[in-house]
Amino acid sequence: MRQAMVAGNWKMHGLHARNEELLAALLPSLQALPDRDVEVVVCPPSIYLESVGRVLAALDGDIHLGAQNVCSQAGQGAYTGEVSVEMLRDVGCTHVILGHSERRTLFAETDEAVADKLRVALAAGLTPIVCVGEQLAEREAGETEAVVERQLTAVLAACPSDQLANMVLAYEPVWAIGTGLTATPDQAQEVHQFIRTRIARVDATMAGLVRILYGGSVKAANAKELFAMPDVDGGLIGGASLTTEFTAIVAAAGAH
Ligand code: PEP
Repeated sequence: MRQAMVAGNWKMHGLHARNEELLAALLPSLQALPDRDVEVVVCPPSIYLESVGRVLAALDGDIHLGAQNVCSQAGQGAYTGEVSVEMLRDVGCTHVILGHSERRTLFAETDEAVADKLRVALAAGLTPIVCVGEQLAEREAGETEAVVERQLTAVLAACPSDQLANMVLAYEPVWAIGTGLTATPDQAQEVHQFIRTRIARVDATMAGLVRILYGGSVKAANAKELFAMPDVDGGLIGGASLTTEFTAIVAAAGAH
């Protein structure tokens, strides 16, 4: 049985006052959810990890802290502007999003760069949430599986098979991110099943344990249907994680 997960990706949103306001509105409703069996992660911009982490820590580990990116070099060094896995651990992070499509497309992150980050994240004991997904033109050209297969192959090469279940994958069709367009539950399930089957070629037992999140315009109104699909284990949420709608999405994940 895989525990559902819902992770909120705040992207480059927030300021101290706004973060405090959002957390004050969000956390009581999340805590009030009855019998919540959902791993919940909040991923603010790196400069706010420590302050948001302090608020979350007061909740006894009930809600986890995640980063949106990390340097592929571990330790200390001359890497201006970068943040290491050790630094993330030091401020209380337990999770890190890797290979988000915005990093791949806007910051030219390659499959190899994502794989390097995955190696250091796993070695540091962080739970990586690794994003894969196709662009609209790739879907329209019938290349969805080929693109996801290519991205996944790099990920699987970087992840020792005994650590597969420590990693979380997120299928995020790029055309659905921040656009209001959502994959239908069937479209999501098709790719999630493809991902799980690909992992099973490495290790069938681990494939049954790996959580695969769906991301792309998930809202309270569509979360339930998406999360009801057999290979969808929760969601990676952008826009709706900046509102109290996030709580309804977590509740939807807990209903399965
Ligand atoms: C995301 O940024 O990972 C995402 C899924 O965004 P949104 O929910 O806004 O589409």
